[in-house]
Amino acid sequence: MGVEEQLPTGVLLTSVENIFGYMRSASFWPATFGLACCAIEMMTYGAPRYDSGRWGQEVFRASPRQADLMIVAGRVSQKMAPVLRQIYDQMPNPKWVLAMGVCASTGGMFNNYAIVQGVDHVVPVDMYLPGCPPRPEMLIDAMFKLRDKVRNTPIGHHAVEAAETAEQQALEA
Ligand code: SF4
Repeated sequence: MGVEEQLPTGVLLTSVENIFGYMRSASFWPATFGLACCAIEMMTYGAPRYDSGRWGQEVFRASPRQADLMIVAGRVSQKMAPVLRQIYDQMPNPKWVLAMGVCASTGGMFNNYAIVQGVDHVVPVDMYLPGCPPRPEMLIDAMFKLRDKVRNTPIGHHAVEAAETAEQQALEA
């Protein structure tokens, strides 16, 4: 008799998903870039005082091909939007996006032609963090909420969801 026949239906698959979710959520590798003042708080979050390394989140990668998290820290100019999208496209799946601060989330006080009114017009966003700027403690809190979301996402589901959103964005562009 095979192993799968000896186990109740679904138990093995559920366990594998749990392990994958746990590993992904406990080892974010954020891409290294900042767009404006919010990036200073993001750097502080990675520095010794707040020490994001305590949760396996401190390894900022210089190459998008080695990153699975994009922290959009600051307002996104229209000129920067295609660059940001290219970096996102170069990141391997599964990948996640955190909009840090009111400017990245909605355009904030920069309600003008030069600034994208929310980075979700350019890439799919998984977590919004309010504030101007959000303090490092707030970023830590948002990262923990994102960890919970990642941990509970079924294998493959996020990639499909992101592809559908990207397709929708391309149609609207
Ligand atoms: Fe700067 Fe505030 Fe905008 Fe962050 S939310 S980029 S701190 S103006």
